[in-house]
Amino acid sequence: MSMLELTGVTKKFGGIVACKDISFSVAPGQVAGLIGPNGAGKTTVFNLITGVYAPTAGSITFADQDITAIRPDKVVAHGIARTFQNIRLFRNLTVLDNVRIAVDKEVDYALGEALVRSPRVKNLEQEICALAMERLEEVGLADKADVRADSLPYGLQRKLEIARALALRPRLLLLDEPAAGMNPEESLELAGLVRTLHARHDLTILLIEHHMDVVMELCERIFVLDFGVKLAEGTAEEIQTNPDVLRAYLGEG
Ligand code: ATP
Repeated sequence: MSMLELTGVTKKFGGIVACKDISFSVAPGQVAGLIGPNGAGKTTVFNLITGVYAPTAGSITFADQDITAIRPDKVVAHGIARTFQNIRLFRNLTVLDNVRIAVDKEVDYALGEALVRSPRVKNLEQEICALAMERLEEVGLADKADVRADSLPYGLQRKLEIARALALRPRLLLLDEPAAGMNPEESLELAGLVRTLHARHDLTILLIEHHMDVVMELCERIFVLDFGVKLAEGTAEEIQTNPDVLRAYLGEG
């Protein structure tokens, strides 16, 4: 059984074929990686899974439900959360508020969106804050709760994005270049954090990453895209020795 399955997914933007007949499947609880050169179609795959775009052809299932062309506002309710290549925080809000908003949204789904906040749940705001603080503690940002999000260094903003995504209580977490802009030491620390969060929250993770040390460290299965086509898939060992990958992705051979 698979948690996420893409079958023959194609996405065209006019004459550009961003993804062509891509099929892969991620097992429940797996950490999988999506790699490939710039413009290979990786972010487009995330955008297709999260309903930003509808595929031109093919289908996507999540936990055995067809989510092909899901509405973006329904993604969280299905249990999918993501981070973005270009960090998307509420820059002028505090670190805590950035996560609080996400907890708030998740609570709305959990309670049922029809339920307006009532005196029955008068402690809700405190609970939401406490939950948001828990997520911040997990990524090591609790002491920064009251500072503005845009005052954080870039690497910490990436961690804040992860905390916010986690606050949505996803079953599937999509991480788009979580280690971008980090030096090798920081990126390995980030890999350790992702590993801890994966175990603690019982997550399935699909991550896009250019830092190969992070990919090789974390991913049980790796999918390689090139020019919108799936070039290879396999374990880190298999990918590292695959001649097609070496030729196309690493520019060798
Ligand atoms: P990078 O590593 O640089 O982020 P990527 O593998 O994530 O690259 P995509 O961003 O998915 O690649 O882009 C794949 C192709 O699709 C590129 O040629 C890109 O220009 C094109 N593309 C993506 N989104 C759109 C869009 N909305 N309209 C037109 N073309 C697009």
